[in-house]
Amino acid sequence: MTGAAPRPAYQKYNLKVQPSRIDGLGVFAAQAIAGARKIGEIRGESISVDEARIRATRSERIMIVELSPRRAIDFSKSADPMRYTNHSCQPNARLSIANGRVEFYALRAIAVGEEITVRYGETHHQGQLPCRCGMAGCIGKL
Ligand SMILES: [Zn+2]
Repeated sequence: MTGAAPRPAYQKYNLKVQPSRIDGLGVFAAQAIAGARKIGEIRGESISVDEARIRATRSERIMIVELSPRRAIDFSKSADPMRYTNHSCQPNARLSIANGRVEFYALRAIAVGEEITVRYGETHHQGQLPCRCGMAGCIGKL
């Protein structure tokens, strides 16, 4: 059985979560993704930025994105595969935060089997983890 798990409508492509060369688990394209297309979203627990900052100090493995100066989303309990998206200093996708949602868009065509990566940026709390993306120009930390 290799059938893809059923996916919600906001998940536009088949993705696979598997071990990543970059860090822990990553999310990989299970079908070709065209450049500039929306890949999907992650949805999680809506919390205040104050609460997000407290949580970020308690865990070094936390996935929080700040939506605004007041609101954040904690993805730690989300079942959406894109929660496993790793950071790369040369990413093939980007995060877009709009209308309280965290969406992912391809920066270029992504082939089957390629890991999907984004540049986390300042709104993303990952603790003080070293970056292991291995790309030229790697800034060395998240
Ligand atoms: Zn890097």
